[in-house]
Amino acid sequence: MKTEISIKPTVFMIFGGTGDLAARKLIPALYNLYLDKFMPSQFAIIGLGRTEYTLESYRKEMLEGVTEFSRSGKPDTKTWKAFAENIRFLNADLEQEKTYQNLSQIIDKCDDEWTEPANVVHYLAVAPRFFPIIAENLAKVKLTQDKCRCRIVIEKPFGHDLESAKALNILLRGIFDESQIYRIDHYLGKETVQNMMAFRFANALFEPVWNRNFIEHVQISVSEKIGVGDRGGYYDHSGALRDMVQNHLLQLVCLVAMESPVSFGADEVRNRRVDVLKAIRPFNAQELNQNIVRGQYNGGWVEGEEVNGYREEKGVNPQSNTETFAALKFFVDNWRWQNVPFYVRTGKRMHQQSSIISIQFKDVPHKIFPDDAAEIWQQNRLIISIQPEMSIRLQVQAKRPGVNMVLNPVDMVFDYQGTYTHDGPEAYETLLLDVLQGDQTLFMRADQVEVAWELLMPVIEFWEKKTSLNFPNYSADSWGPELAEALIAKDGFHWYSLPVSKKPKS
Ligand code: NAP
Repeated sequence: MKTEISIKPTVFMIFGGTGDLAARKLIPALYNLYLDKFMPSQFAIIGLGRTEYTLESYRKEMLEGVTEFSRSGKPDTKTWKAFAENIRFLNADLEQEKTYQNLSQIIDKCDDEWTEPANVVHYLAVAPRFFPIIAENLAKVKLTQDKCRCRIVIEKPFGHDLESAKALNILLRGIFDESQIYRIDHYLGKETVQNMMAFRFANALFEPVWNRNFIEHVQISVSEKIGVGDRGGYYDHSGALRDMVQNHLLQLVCLVAMESPVSFGADEVRNRRVDVLKAIRPFNAQELNQNIVRGQYNGGWVEGEEVNGYREEKGVNPQSNTETFAALKFFVDNWRWQNVPFYVRTGKRMHQQSSIISIQFKDVPHKIFPDDAAEIWQQNRLIISIQPEMSIRLQVQAKRPGVNMVLNPVDMVFDYQGTYTHDGPEAYETLLLDVLQGDQTLFMRADQVEVAWELLMPVIEFWEKKTSLNFPNYSADSWGPELAEALIAKDGFHWYSLPVSKKPKS
């Protein structure tokens, strides 16, 4: 959480200002930053889109977004009015040069009216096919040249595969300096994810045991209860590997497995994250046959409601070979992690919505207690729950109260809701503030994105070449295909899931 900031006047351009992301995440995040007094004293938010709005109707639409999606709820009229004064709307087509000339004029006008020249953030909340179009047109009207003042934010997905990610990086770096490019992965802005760094490197307790000598295995599980919904058309060309593993899950792996940075500098932290990806053992033919599992959900019942199977969803090919579930086992080949298996899984239409990291420690070297004292024996486990519950639990063995020595596992819990009285910022708030301040620590660098794609390309190609004969292979409201259980069970472990949270918090 920032404590003291001074941000230059900023023009915040939202390409895709009429879209879902703008109304659901970006404007609510900017509004909350305004409430918390983190917005610059002079700023303008320019929403762009072809949908016809008047300035008034656009502001009204954004107010509805904030009312519905902001953690701060319905804005009070006076504060909203003061914030909304800074919102403008440009009815424009991204494919027309004139649009960019208009933008240039708007920025010039702000520069004239404000006390100092504005920083300009170009936020690309549009489909990836527009990324090159926007970048090239901005360059044409010379809105990209000033390294200090101009920034570009690219939403996921960053590329469809290694080749397209490389091509996009080449294009962007032909126009912008790397220091101007913010590749966003909103997982990195989540409080619990950021807390991984604090937890590991601000405590003397964990780092000495954070290695192959004490850790038996690591699991990362990101499960969603929802299906593809209206995103079938997009998702059917993507799948779980591209949509979740390439970005969110590998980011979490990086935070668990990284070495300590020397400082909290952006490049220092990002170097350590890239090191992890580079150390992951590439998937060879044997691993492709043994260590990866894909799944696709079938129809079924979820909380009393009948739901479609993936192949019946809107926009999805009825013979689709796209995976809605992926589980992988791999190793990180370095001194710290040699031979410690990492298991990651993610899926849609699963039994529970949850994102958790589970670090299982090795067993004690010698058990002094008789079998009947230790009937329920559980090796120490650290569970970092990212969402919906935000907590860190250390599972330890303890003596149950009573005259006999009977052991059972108990949780030492750090729970955000119980510990702090105020809500933390949403991931997008943290990340947008970083963009405004020019801090790239929580954003992905070109090399990181490419290494992540490089790692997964053998899996993507393997699955694309080989049609799955057993799809759909897991039912809605389950924990995925049985083969995913087998993947981890054959090593003697099982997937960990949290007991259902009493007070879910999204
Ligand atoms: P969306 O609701 O479909 O919005 C697309 C936006 O692009 C609309 O504002 C649309 O405006 C604009 N657009 C399309 N063609 C245009 C053109 N020729 N000229 C001007 N504007 C044009 O998509 P979204 O959900 O907001 O997602 C946007 C991007 O963010 C995507 O890359 C997505 O993968 C990513 N993302 C979204 C979310 C989310 O929660 N929604 C989360 C993570 C990442 P008009 O139709 O008015 O022209």
